[in-house]
Amino acid sequence: MSTTSLSFPVQITVMGSGTSQGVPMIGCDCPVCRSTDPRDHRTRCSLVVATPDTTILIDTPPELRLQALRTGLKHVDAVFLTHAHADHIMGFDDLRRFCDIKKGAMPVYASPVTLASVANVFPYAFDPKNRIPGYVSVDSHPVTDSFTLGGLTITPYTLPHGRFNTYGYLFQRAGEKIFAYMNDCKDIPAPAREAIRDVNVLMIDGLRDEAHPTHLTVGEAMAIGRDVRAKHVYLTHITHQKTHAQRETELPKGVQLAYDGLSFTV
Ligand SMILES: [Zn+2]
Ligand SMILES: [Zn+2]
Ligand SMILES: [Zn+2]
Repeated sequence: MSTTSLSFPVQITVMGSGTSQGVPMIGCDCPVCRSTDPRDHRTRCSLVVATPDTTILIDTPPELRLQALRTGLKHVDAVFLTHAHADHIMGFDDLRRFCDIKKGAMPVYASPVTLASVANVFPYAFDPKNRIPGYVSVDSHPVTDSFTLGGLTITPYTLPHGRFNTYGYLFQRAGEKIFAYMNDCKDIPAPAREAIRDVNVLMIDGLRDEAHPTHLTVGEAMAIGRDVRAKHVYLTHITHQKTHAQRETELPKGVQLAYDGLSFTV
């Protein structure tokens, strides 16, 4: 492999950055929910990681179709799921269009438990006898350890999230820790912290200021960022507590809020 191919660019695009209810929230007239700043319109969390030849979608939230139209996402090679909460899987059926475009079943990577839960909700998608053009069909990839895709080494880490566990994913390019995505978690346990130490970009659950039983607070997320010496931290899975502009004035250098449509290269 040439030096050039070892340093290929990886494009990260935030499709959604909002908490499970989304922002604006139904029936809420708070200043954030009424804000006209597009960065305060937070659809449910999903993310695209794209190498020059492979496009990976993480999670399939209820707004997936709208997110794909808005960001111009036209092709998906593989889907990773973090966990089976409704705000991360209820757009799963919209993968039908991406199956159509790629003319085949969609490889879906997740923990065995998450795949079993999603198969319970969308049984037809997992039935190999049901591979009808125009419908979603899945190639299941239960993963518990590192795997490679698009020239990247990807390692899932189990993170606590109340009664659920989620997967956080670390992406490495030729041994370099380029990106870690750890949404929906109450903590990052020691093995995962060790693994992501010195990562270039950490995108992490930063729900709100007050403690929450299943999510990290902004303060807890920043403390983890410092502990693992992440070069840059983005907070995601954000509530309607503060506007983007207001929150950004409070964050130290090297920490930013994610927002829908944010795109950068690592
Ligand atoms: Zn969530
Ligand atoms: Zn509100
Ligand atoms: Zn969740």
